[in-house]
Amino acid sequence: MNVGFEIQERELTAEEIKELQKEVRRLAQEKNAIILAHYYQRPEVQDIADFVGDSLELSRKAANTDADIIVFCGVRFMCETAKILSPQKKVLHPNPESGCPMADMVTAEQVRKLREEHPDAEFVAYINTTADVKAEVDICVTSANAPKIIKKLEAKKIVFLPDQALGQWVAKQVPEKEFIIWKGFCPPHFEFTAREVMKLKEKYPDAKVAVHPECHPKVIELADFVGSTSQIIKYATSVDAKRVIVITEVGLKYTLMKKNPNKEYIFPESMNYCGTVYCCTMKGITLPKVYETIKNEINEVELPEDIIERARRPIERMLELS
Ligand code: SF4
Repeated sequence: MNVGFEIQERELTAEEIKELQKEVRRLAQEKNAIILAHYYQRPEVQDIADFVGDSLELSRKAANTDADIIVFCGVRFMCETAKILSPQKKVLHPNPESGCPMADMVTAEQVRKLREEHPDAEFVAYINTTADVKAEVDICVTSANAPKIIKKLEAKKIVFLPDQALGQWVAKQVPEKEFIIWKGFCPPHFEFTAREVMKLKEKYPDAKVAVHPECHPKVIELADFVGSTSQIIKYATSVDAKRVIVITEVGLKYTLMKKNPNKEYIFPESMNYCGTVYCCTMKGITLPKVYETIKNEINEVELPEDIIERARRPIERMLELS
């Protein structure tokens, strides 16, 4: 069906957005496809998703459906995780150029080299890693379960990658273990400064502060609550405070407003590495791109079978331990 206008990257009118959304949903039904959107996606993309959530949660949900196609509106490693957990399904990524800069800060070869240096350590990878890296490690963790899982590991020595902020936050909570932490970081989260958070606290003294653990340790120190995106949603929408200062990607505001519009959510306005206040690779997924992808079944995510097999093990081990 022709939706009546040219699909290109430009500002769409409200009417065009509505029509395109309708068409994407129709195609999803016709093709038995499921659409997943990460919390940091654009509102108009979140609105066409079957599920909106954290990356692992989304991949697990999709694996439990009988959909033939998964359209993952998120960054590349998320699509890879969906493929690892649903190897028989076709996984489509609306923008193959949308990678995660932090996930790309460590390679499988670097992990192999580090193994030689630390043969007695258990290698723990944040879920925000490429499939190639997952295939090299002992276990994966999320920002929600990392301290709990790592406490349960037998090894005294932990190599944690790729996020230094999350690694340091976890290490504080598991002092009985020795940590070797990779120096990767999430550019948007690392951009928030303690000074900026202090200013917001001064401006809104009654507000609670919720911080994502990918933020700098000095920012984390100022938090009333530290947690994953899903945990922040629960906290911010239910905490006994009218205002919440939320230190994470601004895309989350849409979900927070939908879940509890009776509170005020204050996000910092710092510019990041690409001159925006948001994760620019996440926002590289646009509604027209989703439409083109599902319509033509393009941008399929493919992984070698042995990588799927080896990368699944650390994820399954994490699920067993959690
Ligand atoms: S917010 Fe950070 S971790 Fe998430 S995709 Fe963007 S760069 Fe990667």
